[in-house]
Amino acid sequence: MKNVYMDNNATTPVRAEVREKVLPFLGGKFGNPSSVHWAGRAAHAALDEAREHVARILGAKDREVVFTGSGSEADNMAIKGACFALRKKGKHIITTAVEHPAVLETCRDLEKHGADVTYLPVKPDGTMEAAEVGAAIRDDTVLVTIMFANNETGVVFPIKEIGAVTRKKGVLFHTDAVQAVGKLPIRVEELGVDMLSLSGHKLYAPKGVGALYIRSGVRIERLISGGHQERNRRAGTENIPGIAGLGEAARLAAQEIDEESARTKRLRDRLERGIFEKVPRCRRNGHPERRLPNTSNISFEYIEGEGILLSLDMEGVAASSGSACTSGSLDPSHVLLAMGLSHELAHGSVRLSLGRDNTDAEVDHVLSVLPGIAERLRAMSPLYNRRPEERPALKYEELACSTHAHDIGDGHDH
Ligand SMILES: *Cc1c(COP(=O)(O)O)cnc(C)c1O
Repeated sequence: MKNVYMDNNATTPVRAEVREKVLPFLGGKFGNPSSVHWAGRAAHAALDEAREHVARILGAKDREVVFTGSGSEADNMAIKGACFALRKKGKHIITTAVEHPAVLETCRDLEKHGADVTYLPVKPDGTMEAAEVGAAIRDDTVLVTIMFANNETGVVFPIKEIGAVTRKKGVLFHTDAVQAVGKLPIRVEELGVDMLSLSGHKLYAPKGVGALYIRSGVRIERLISGGHQERNRRAGTENIPGIAGLGEAARLAAQEIDEESARTKRLRDRLERGIFEKVPRCRRNGHPERRLPNTSNISFEYIEGEGILLSLDMEGVAASSGSACTSGSLDPSHVLLAMGLSHELAHGSVRLSLGRDNTDAEVDHVLSVLPGIAERLRAMSPLYNRRPEERPALKYEELACSTHAHDIGDGHDH
């Protein structure tokens, strides 16, 4: 079997239609969109068209979309930009313990400059309630930043309910929707979000381009100073090839979202059912329904996730353990720890994230190789080889999620 790619939450391939859209801007259509001549006008037209498509997939107005250099930059811009603009109001930020590093590390950096950050815990199934956000809001709260969908588990947060709470209390609400755009329908007005981040390469567009939706009327400070690009909100000559690609990817995703989400969900569910049938002692991480249609995160007791990944790779299957950004480090996933998993179970986790190119034959391939891999690795596991009654009990359900909050909080109070 040829290579199977099931790591679409880490990045997606650039789809053919997007590549076609990008190529002219790496050739004859090289103009600077700020120039008034024919070359500049062609580039500017591409910028306008892309902005329209990105706005449309969000239910936003064109002028509310700012292109950035990545999803991470969009997160930084929203969080730092809001905090700098509102420093007279206060210095309190509310987020969760399971955010992407682009949000968590940004909050950490702001703590060094005097910000006070509340990292809300999640339940063992990875979810949380909007009421907890409401309870955490104070007079000096300047921003709530909570992800739309988690990149590791796929768990989806109650964005609309949180939006209702923040609106009522008059606090800005940013959501990192990098994993949600293209997989879930999004209407920013109905959701009550003030800012929303997205990224091209999670959406079948090139890497190095992203966007931030900023609701009109919301004032944040810019991070990149210089020219007047993006209505003075982000300086630097625009990445026209990347932006044109992102626009086309958004246009196509908006058309296909229902059909494509149903298709990947069917494949994902079949893959998951097959694994549970064929591999003993494994469990799903994350709420079974409140999650993205493409993501499956599974812990295999008594096995290292890294071992499974290496063995899968030898069978041509690309998957991931922990988050893409921290794999390579030996720290277990902060997301799984925050859900109350033991270090052992967190280490034994594998993320399979499907995408538009996956097929039933590929699911069959994974199901044909994974049980053997798990059996072989378990046979080598010193923990598993003890007599069954001596095996350590890996009890996860009753673990309180707050037990591990300090792994995220770095000594800060929650
Ligand atoms: C990938 C990802 C990001 C970062 O996007 P980049 O474009 O790679 O910087 C941010 N948040 C989430 C949830 C992601 O999955």
